Amino acid sequence: MIWYPYQQMKTMKDPYRIVDAQGVWLYTEDNRMIDSVSSWWSVIHGYRHPVLTRAIQSQAEHFSHVMLGGLTHEPVQKLSDRLEQWLPGDLNYCFFSDSGSVAVEVALKMALQYYVNRGEKNRTRVLSLTHAYHGDTFRAMEVGDDEDYHFILEAYGPSPHVLHIPTEIPALEKAFELCHEDLNCMIVEPLLQGAGGMRMYDLSFLKQARELCDQYGVLLIFDEVATGFGRTGHRFVADQVQPDILVLGKALTGGYLGHAVTVANRKVYEGFYDDDPDKALMHGPTFMGNALACSVALASIELFEQEDYLSKIRQIEAITRRELQGFADPRVREVRIMGGCVCMEVRDRAVLDGYQQFAYEHGVFSRPFLNCLYAMVPYIITEGELVQVLDTMKAWFRR
Ligand SMILES: *Cc1c(COP(=O)(O)O)cnc(C)c1O
Repeated sequence: MIWYPYQQMKTMKDPYRIVDAQGVWLYTEDNRMIDSVSSWWSVIHGYRHPVLTRAIQSQAEHFSHVMLGGLTHEPVQKLSDRLEQWLPGDLNYCFFSDSGSVAVEVALKMALQYYVNRGEKNRTRVLSLTHAYHGDTFRAMEVGDDEDYHFILEAYGPSPHVLHIPTEIPALEKAFELCHEDLNCMIVEPLLQGAGGMRMYDLSFLKQARELCDQYGVLLIFDEVATGFGRTGHRFVADQVQPDILVLGKALTGGYLGHAVTVANRKVYEGFYDDDPDKALMHGPTFMGNALACSVALASIELFEQEDYLSKIRQIEAITRRELQGFADPRVREVRIMGGCVCMEVRDRAVLDGYQQFAYEHGVFSRPFLNCLYAMVPYIITEGELVQVLDTMKAWFRR
């Protein structure tokens, strides 16, 4: 049987069984609903997009996968060329992997080994944020601060290798002052902390982090697995403040196949470039650079550019602000909006019990978590469909 994610199997209600999907719509046997979470924030072009489907089909006519150990191929070459050209500055060196968590592991490994390769073996610590989420693998959980994983703290005690700080400049300055000699990197979800509760913070924090990282020679990692490809209203937050290592996943393939990439700048790449084989990056997921995933990722990037997705996202944000203007309820602590993300944070999470079924009955798929009732819609959503999602959220408080 299937063991479902993040679920107590004993008390879980039956999941909705999807039989078809098209655009923003998910179809069950007897209902249809707008996917207001874009299948964990990844399906930015909606379902069954003909261009994306065709990209996968035509690559599958040749080969679906060959390994990158000793082999290479056109789709992975083209995608790395495209990313090199598309991403800001000298973020040019693309290490592919099969999921966001693994790509975060690769980034953390790069940062540590970068210093070990230079003989600086004391730099063993990572600076990260409270309420951070960086994935479900062990090291990603450790640099994260997701309350679902606090059982690990009980088992192992607090990690000596990670320092968590809030998104406040005085805490940032203090951390660098006290610990800069031990730090190899700082990792953040820039501007929008997703799974930790849709928390939004200011660009000035990232600018200050960049300055301090430069001052003390600490590598800055942006985990844009969730924020990348326009979610915050910026194409990448990395366009505003440039990290040394950028991690992309989720929407990289338009949500059509699992794939991710860790992109290093020249400085990081050169820290490994040597005659000494021991200084090579020792990592290699079986399915890295999968040809179907690379083909659909390329097609996804072309769509994003050709169809001016950033203007679609601006439109989504404007409609969201318009529709939620004046909305208030004593049970709602705050409404936060950034780009293609809206979150109503409630004071007591029990207020959201039953919302998923209510939304289903209103033709919307939603999956509240923590204190968050949120939407991260596919960017191809029409105004009418978006209004339906937002009306459903408001209607919950007006029953
Ligand atoms: C989803 C997510 C990950 C993990 O990606 P997976 O593909 O689920 O392993 C990592 N970081 C952030 C910010 C995410 O939102």
